[in-house]
Amino acid sequence: MKNFTYFMPTKIIFGKNCIVDNSSVFKDMGKKAYIITGKHSAKLNGSENDVKTALEKEGIEYVIFDKIEENPDIETIFAAAKKGISEKVDFVIGIGGGSPMDSAKAISCLILNNEGEPKDILFGEQKKHLPVIEVPTTAGTGSETTPFSIVTLHNEKTKSSIAQKIFAKYAFLDAKYMENLPVGITNNTAIDALSHLIESYMSTNSNFLSEKIAEVGLNVFKDCIPYLINRQYPFEIREKLLIASTIAGILISQSGTSIPHFLGYQLTYDKGIPHGMANGILMKAYLELFGENKKVDNICNILGFNNLYELGDFHNEVLDIKEKFTYDDIKAYSGRSFGNKAKLKTFPRNLSFNDILNIYSKSLL
Ligand code: NAP
Ligand code: FE
Repeated sequence: MKNFTYFMPTKIIFGKNCIVDNSSVFKDMGKKAYIITGKHSAKLNGSENDVKTALEKEGIEYVIFDKIEENPDIETIFAAAKKGISEKVDFVIGIGGGSPMDSAKAISCLILNNEGEPKDILFGEQKKHLPVIEVPTTAGTGSETTPFSIVTLHNEKTKSSIAQKIFAKYAFLDAKYMENLPVGITNNTAIDALSHLIESYMSTNSNFLSEKIAEVGLNVFKDCIPYLINRQYPFEIREKLLIASTIAGILISQSGTSIPHFLGYQLTYDKGIPHGMANGILMKAYLELFGENKKVDNICNILGFNNLYELGDFHNEVLDIKEKFTYDDIKAYSGRSFGNKAKLKTFPRNLSFNDILNIYSKSLL
């Protein structure tokens, strides 16, 4: 067995009403909280209100920044950090999907480190940050248990994971915030979680422990498959999707993501394709690159598919893919992606430019 390390410092608190029922957690975090969230959903699904109730119960002040967009850029994150500095906040609470949760991490770093360009700070050597609490309201990114924060870089026409590695101190998991999550977001984010499970399992960075946990995560995900296809989500399934997503976050925090993620960032940047859908579009062609492979067979077996064609059909059935691509798009994406040597190394053999071109053309044309 190969040597490995395993580090997961986030305390997970799971269950209905877990925020208000565990409000004492906030007591040790500081006197003033900074709530980071998106424009609308946290107000509608009750998560923002639960956090405010818990903070008020403990006598903790708070301020809110509720302008995080999908696929947040550094400009928005910097604007939020400036407000946090002037408000002298002690800790940061991210509420929402991956976009606000990732932003909360980057903001927690920029509040303590504000000399110089925000991009240089976020992509520079590891720095101190304010404590972070995360409250997911989608079940997909697993950002609540990963140290990653993905930001949009307009100059580079793509998205990228910042160099700072920031784990939340606490993650509150309450599936009641997802009860009215629209079908499209539910399925796209579920496929993001599935892609984390698969990419971690297949990555050269996986290890004995992470592979066993991935198999557990795939088993939990399997129970959700008929509900994703029928687009009906009873509460127990919402909870399972959330657990699968958090497990997947724990896994990519060990292994990182792999080829579908970094090729998918181009689709999101260029055509606005939701993150999970972008990964799902590329998944079958990525797995085909492994050829005959026991782990690929295991994935199909656990999920209840006879082969990769059935896995591909499942993705097409649950994702509502409308976008069309041209060969020029594919050449441009392949050129931009081929530079990412760290991600290419997560594949067990050297990938050529043509391999990348092939994944894109099989998936998009
Ligand atoms: P998102 O961009 O956070 O949110 C997508 C949409 O869902 C927004 O319009 C949001 O509305 C809405 N929404 C969120 N929760 C809702 C709810 N409970 N009910 C109704 N609508 C809701 O989507 P995401 O897929 O969760 O996150 C994607 C981001 O995470 C990408 O930037 C991706 O790169 C990143 N990511 C990070 C990691 C990591 O390890 N850190 C891993 C994978 C992906 P509002 O704007 O109004 O809130
Ligand atoms: Fe992802």
